[in-house]
Amino acid sequence: LEIESKDDSSDDDDTSSNNKIDRPVTTRFPPEPNGYLHLGHAKAVCFNFAVSRMFGGNCNMRMDDTNPSKEDEEYVESILRDVKWIQSGLFEGDKPWDGEVRKTSDYFDVIYDAAVALIKQGDAYVDSLSAEEMREYRGTLTEPGKDSPHRSRSIEENLELFEGMRDGKFKEGEHVLRAKIDMSSPNINMRDPALYRIKHESHQETGDKWCIYPMYDFSHPISDALEGITHSLCTLEFEDHRPFYDWTVEKLLPSGLITQVPQQIEFSRLNVKSTVLSKRKLIQLVEQKHVNGWDDPRMPTMSGLRRRGVPPAALRMFCERVGISKADSNIDAVVLEDCVREVMDDTCLRAFSVLKPLKVTITNWQGDDLEDFEVPRHPKREEMGTRTIPFGKTVYIERDDFFDLEGPEGKANDNRPPRGFKRLLPNQMVRLRYAYVIQCNEIVRDPETQEPIELKCEYFPDTRAGVTPEGMARVKGIIHWVEASKGQRCSVNQYDRLFLAEEPGKESGDFLKDINPKSLEVLTDVVIEPSVVEDAVKAMEEDASSISSLAYQFERSGYFALDESSTDASNLVFNRVVTLRDTWGA
Ligand code: ATP
Ligand code: MG
Ligand code: MG
Repeated sequence: LEIESKDDSSDDDDTSSNNKIDRPVTTRFPPEPNGYLHLGHAKAVCFNFAVSRMFGGNCNMRMDDTNPSKEDEEYVESILRDVKWIQSGLFEGDKPWDGEVRKTSDYFDVIYDAAVALIKQGDAYVDSLSAEEMREYRGTLTEPGKDSPHRSRSIEENLELFEGMRDGKFKEGEHVLRAKIDMSSPNINMRDPALYRIKHESHQETGDKWCIYPMYDFSHPISDALEGITHSLCTLEFEDHRPFYDWTVEKLLPSGLITQVPQQIEFSRLNVKSTVLSKRKLIQLVEQKHVNGWDDPRMPTMSGLRRRGVPPAALRMFCERVGISKADSNIDAVVLEDCVREVMDDTCLRAFSVLKPLKVTITNWQGDDLEDFEVPRHPKREEMGTRTIPFGKTVYIERDDFFDLEGPEGKANDNRPPRGFKRLLPNQMVRLRYAYVIQCNEIVRDPETQEPIELKCEYFPDTRAGVTPEGMARVKGIIHWVEASKGQRCSVNQYDRLFLAEEPGKESGDFLKDINPKSLEVLTDVVIEPSVVEDAVKAMEEDASSISSLAYQFERSGYFALDESSTDASNLVFNRVVTLRDTWGA
């Protein structure tokens, strides 16, 4: 897309040219407060921010609140929270949004005056056809429309009727104010589009002041012009609306109600595979309780992504990678996941957690004493310091890091370990990362299921901290572990894609049929190392609301963020933000 910035050679009074801009590049993000923002909006926010940033301008935040029947204060608040959040993921010192919240409803008086000006110019009229008749008169793509019998009303009559509309003299649907353009235009949007309709509803901002509300297509160019917007960036479905946008601006310049000429530029919508990005569908997911609310971490809403633990910088990176074009795109969810990994790999503390614990008793460990190991909190960032992990007589390892060759698992697998399995086998060795090599000598089984419930192992004191003593073959498998007495139980929510199909609803026409029934697995028996608990206690003491920013790479498992429902240190809940792609010691 071509964006032109301030052209120094242009004449100062050359405001009528669409290509020359005589003021700082100004964009706007104009959500309608009728739902929560989603990934598609993130793209629009980032794009608008990026354009204004590139040219040192501002990006206005504007609530496009012209339809009180669908809008709500709850949505206004969530939108502001989301935009502030995404702005926190921008480059340091970068503040393309000045923090002021503008609203289309701030301009209702001017927009009303604009409608009156159009009536006076003979460019608008009050129509009294029913909605159905109006549809009929509008024509089709192949057939021109017909003039309404009310199209020839006098200016005086139009002014009187419009005033009556404003003063609440009519019922909803009785009259509509329309632009007088061309009922035979090949562009249906130019066939006398509606400017104002009657709605006897209170508005979250203006209360009962108005019972007529402007249409989006009419209020938008006026709001843009009033704010000095230079580039009104919107999605491609508005391409056919652009002639009316330009018509509105051009017709209103002589009135003096607006003086600046904004330009509408379209870009393609973001679609992401295996999810849905439409407020209508997202509302269905929430209302029919397929998810636990707007901020369910499986939702593609900004509040869901935030609650899941996705860092805002990853969203910004994603929007940059996806880029801007006029071509339709259906982006793989992996692109976002990779951005999350990249950002979290760099910023997250490392810790050990055992998701599905199997008890290991070190039979030759003397007494109940613990031995502390001091290990890095981040492998590449020394400045993040160290953590202490205790080791002792009882530790937990992942159930999956032991292959039960002699039990039901082995039988089901032809008495062979899976190919390339380098972790713990009966009578074999494995290294417990940072600590010692152990060997499994005995399996204690559940008498009923025969499932292993404890491994009795010996440790080799001279293998401490990575050492391979002379005469011992190097042990290839390295696994993580947590010491039992200091480790703490917690819960982990493991999320998978919300939809099984890449394009939900494509096959059956019903996107709800493609919901993944296993999109959430709750693990309640997870054991985490003490450093995590200490961090959580500290964060809660400092500022209870900051705990949701605690995030870790649980080594070999993935990236996890503390969920906001974690009320105290003895009751921690983590969300898996994303899995790890590569593991060590597989
Ligand atoms: P939906 O179709 O999900 O209901 P909307 O377009 O009606 O969304 P608005 O609140 O009007 O939602 O959108 C605010 C801004 O975000 C608009 O400029 C719109 O073009 C942009 N936007 C919305 N969805 C997407 C998307 N999927 N990709 C890019 N931009 C989007
Ligand atoms: Mg919209
Ligand atoms: Mg919409």
